[in-house]
Amino acid sequence: TALRTLGLDYDYRAVDVEPAKLRQSVEQLVAEGCAGFNVTIPHKQSIMPMMSETTEEARAIGAVNTVVVRDGRLYGYNTDVVGVRKSLEPYRTRLEGKTAVVLGAGGAARAVLQCLAKDFKPAGVTILARTLERGKKLTELFAPSSALPLDDPSLARVLEEATLIVNVTPLGMTPEVSASPLPATTAFHRGQIVFDLIHTPLQTTLLKIASARGATTIGGLEMLLHQGAKAFELFTGSPMPMEAVREAVEKKLKIQSP
Ligand code: NAP
Repeated sequence: TALRTLGLDYDYRAVDVEPAKLRQSVEQLVAEGCAGFNVTIPHKQSIMPMMSETTEEARAIGAVNTVVVRDGRLYGYNTDVVGVRKSLEPYRTRLEGKTAVVLGAGGAARAVLQCLAKDFKPAGVTILARTLERGKKLTELFAPSSALPLDDPSLARVLEEATLIVNVTPLGMTPEVSASPLPATTAFHRGQIVFDLIHTPLQTTLLKIASARGATTIGGLEMLLHQGAKAFELFTGSPMPMEAVREAVEKKLKIQSP
């Protein structure tokens, strides 16, 4: 939609790449004259050693999701932080000096923590992790922070005290739409902001439960649009026509959502 709207002569397509063939596939894309590409699960970390240069942000997160090819050299970026920043920006004053809970400890959780540390500076962050070691590793990205297992006895209190709760697990994503990273009994309240990075469905079970209890909710669409907009700009040098793309993406996601 963005390319068509701006009349730009690029082709953007999905390429399925087996982990064992990552280097070979990238070399082929470069040989074909590809201007750049997005990188998704499971290649965001393993592609890093192939980069000629990476941004400080990508290095801090430990993952690349956008690669620009220039004169045969590969420049690695991570635009997820921009997506998180734009999603949380309208709530900046509500987050100041308050605590946050991050559910999940993967690549996107790293982008969330990096953004909180650089831009929003809440008073503290608790990372809830299925694999506690991964959660503990992430505490390096934000101070003060701590990691807890999903069945920690202090969980209910930590959640109730948090102003921001962010889901960065895939729990609730299509097709398992009835799943939620937190139970229906969670004591969400009006003072809270619940941000679910999942964009399919547009409103997850977690957001439905939180919204019913008065919490402010943010879905993954904003993040999807803004991380994509940043990548588009890096590839083409032109700003992405946001409203045209938003309309097209919303239409497509509404069709996909139950
Ligand atoms: P990831 O690297 O695979 O990390 C997923 C995290 O969720 C891991 O910590 C994993 O735990 C945890 N997890 C998975 N299944 C779980 C379960 N059943 N119970 C508890 N924890 C579970 O994935 P990611 O790249 O961070 O992405 C996470 C989510 O964010 C995905 O849903 C993705 O679609 C979404 N996302 C959205 C956008 C956007 O633009 N809106 C951008 C990026 C990502 P372990 O550590 O134990 O494996």
